[in-house]
Amino acid sequence: MNFNSFNFESALKEGLDAMGFEKPTPIQELAIPVIMGGKDLIACAQTGTGKTAAFILPVLNKIAKSGAPNLNTLVLAPTRELAIQIDQQIQGFAYFLGISAISIYGGGDGIVWEQQKKALEEGAEIVVATPGRLIALLAGGKIKLDSLEHLILDEADRMMDMGFSEDILKIVNYLPKNRQTILFSATMPSKIRQFAKQILQDPEEISI
Ligand code: AMP
Repeated sequence: MNFNSFNFESALKEGLDAMGFEKPTPIQELAIPVIMGGKDLIACAQTGTGKTAAFILPVLNKIAKSGAPNLNTLVLAPTRELAIQIDQQIQGFAYFLGISAISIYGGGDGIVWEQQKKALEEGAEIVVATPGRLIALLAGGKIKLDSLEHLILDEADRMMDMGFSEDILKIVNYLPKNRQTILFSATMPSKIRQFAKQILQDPEEISI
């Protein structure tokens, strides 16, 4: 199998070529068609398997194909480092698409915070955020996610271990109910399944 099987938009294919991606990894082969089909998804996959591209490529393709409002995709990640890494990967794929992403995370100095605020004012289709910072912005009315179409929870087990469950549930309360939700986790203990039940609707499940 190669990436042509997914019939991606040509500008996204250009991005894949530029990034040196030739063949989908196993998690990409499984996850991309489910996400393109619009279903909610629970995916069990470790870091290094290509999980980031597995969730972001189908979302970028959909935005490229049909257009999308500002802030239509939210990726929640446990740490600033991961949020930055995801943001950078999105920028790489989206280079030829004219789709932009911003990352929002805590712990930076005032300059970082000013940069994030400025980026938010300028707008972007995709926001990658750590839960603590995002809930502060939502509660303060500084960001509105009323047009959200895709919610992605990356490394959900790690977010739970770090104590973000409550924040995530609060964030979900700010989002439209009619959305596609995708949860990635390296492990799938019952507490993750219970958690997922509160957020996802009739999800498909895949594991590698
Ligand atoms: P991840 O599991 O998302 O952290 O990805 C691990 C690394 O694999 C990242 O550096 C990706 O850029 C790279 N990668 C993901 N999918 C592919 C692919 N299909 N072909 C080549 N490299 C990939």
